[in-house]
Amino acid sequence: MARYTDAVCRRCRREGLKLFLKGDRCYSDKCSFERRAFAPGQHGQARFRKQSDYAVQLREKQKVKSMYGMLEGQFRQTFQTAERQKGVTGENLLILLERRLDNAVFRMGFASSRNQARQLVRHKHVIVNGKKVDIASFLVSEGDEIAIKEKSRANTLINENLEAVERRGIPSWIELNKDGYKATVKALPNREELTMPIQEQLIVELYSK
Ligand code: SF4
Repeated sequence: MARYTDAVCRRCRREGLKLFLKGDRCYSDKCSFERRAFAPGQHGQARFRKQSDYAVQLREKQKVKSMYGMLEGQFRQTFQTAERQKGVTGENLLILLERRLDNAVFRMGFASSRNQARQLVRHKHVIVNGKKVDIASFLVSEGDEIAIKEKSRANTLINENLEAVERRGIPSWIELNKDGYKATVKALPNREELTMPIQEQLIVELYSK
């Protein structure tokens, strides 16, 4: 499967924002963005230049794609699904992204990054409503129970991540049973609960051109 292979910290520096792509390192003083909060490359520290509307919209889309670790094709498909749904397209898009199983596993605290969560899903450590699901783009629904497979509960990484869960915080739409290695989707998230600095309208404008 295709994936990005460039240094992920460059993406945070490019977007001027911590995207939390590297797990625990992102919360430590080793974070590259904390040390070099300017764009990468030879002209990264050049004075700010006014960007065109298109450039601003493009950057916003790239930022959200990087955040969720998605490629253009998958991201556009998700946008098209959001467009077909009732309601506000931008909000629908963000909710669809949050509902991805890899994101849910990350939000629940079983993984320290979405990338790591994707690995856990692909390597069949995760079960949804009692059934093994190894598709990262699977969409969780209200009432779903996501758990770590019994055999995988001794996994050091998962246990370390659960230990650090308080520091990262659990969103209000999820109920975690840390000792039971499981969590429930209490309700689907709404826009107000998604606190990441995203201007989804810019993405809608970009794709509507
Ligand atoms: Fe971004 Fe994390 Fe790298 Fe910091 S450590 S620059 S937050 S990916």
